Amino acid sequence: MIAAREGLAPAGDSMLGFAVPGRDVRGRFVRLDAALAAILGPHDYPPPLAAVLTEALVVTALLGATLREDADADAGLTLQAQGDGALTLLVADWKAGQLRGYLAGDPEAPAGDLAAMFGSGHLAVTLDPTATSERYQGIVPLEGAGIPQAIEQYFRSSEQLPTLIRTGMAVDAAGAVTAGGLLLQYLPRGEEGRTRLFAEDDGAPEPPDWQHMRTLAATVTSDELADPALAPDELLWRLFHEEEVRLFPGVTPSRGCRCSPAHIEMVLKRFPEAERADMRGEDGLIGVDCKFCARVWKIAA
Ligand SMILES: [Zn+2]
Repeated sequence: MIAAREGLAPAGDSMLGFAVPGRDVRGRFVRLDAALAAILGPHDYPPPLAAVLTEALVVTALLGATLREDADADAGLTLQAQGDGALTLLVADWKAGQLRGYLAGDPEAPAGDLAAMFGSGHLAVTLDPTATSERYQGIVPLEGAGIPQAIEQYFRSSEQLPTLIRTGMAVDAAGAVTAGGLLLQYLPRGEEGRTRLFAEDDGAPEPPDWQHMRTLAATVTSDELADPALAPDELLWRLFHEEEVRLFPGVTPSRGCRCSPAHIEMVLKRFPEAERADMRGEDGLIGVDCKFCARVWKIAA
């Protein structure tokens, strides 16, 4: 394994990119620690809700980390699930390493597959418009065991891009949550971005390089992904030590909310004065809460 060891992410919140050029495979590994605690903290979700949001945040970070931020400083990605069941909405987004998310619905929602938690619905992946690209959205039914499986299906059906995603979550004795995730994609002939040169025909045999790599990756366990004591490069070594893997550091994920009083004020000012008067509290200010970070802004508008 050829490892560019300098600058690799330390334990805690970390992102590691990798590629296996000889197999036309690229990947990302992410671990969420303090960033996850900061996102979940203000909400006090029951464990099944915290688990599904955590899974979505890990997937969002993995997908966000594949965006070409060198070319597009504004590159961002949103994952949104909407359903008619116990849970009605889940939003997670990524922008240049900043991650946030929340969900809405019945706190008593049972743990289970996506249908059990969300009823029927859809999952949308939206790429923000940037200087060099237009807004892009892909949508798949909200089906499968979880968000990672639904996203794998999205890449298979909408992008013809063979993709493996695994996530794991661990809760220590003190209740602190750590999560991790691995993404692996097959990009033959050096494809990058969303322009597909390769389309997998129904029933066509799986490319041997991809089959080999996804088989190795699939041996990863949930415990390994989430174990804060297992360094990301050590984990990749365990999985792929017979391959020539190139590692490159990724942007460290952090919790970041983009709510701003200036933006909220601008939105409020679009309402007629009579409606704003109704919204004002006894202090003369309008209280607006940010669903992502649960912060309450008091705005004079
Ligand atoms: Zn916020």
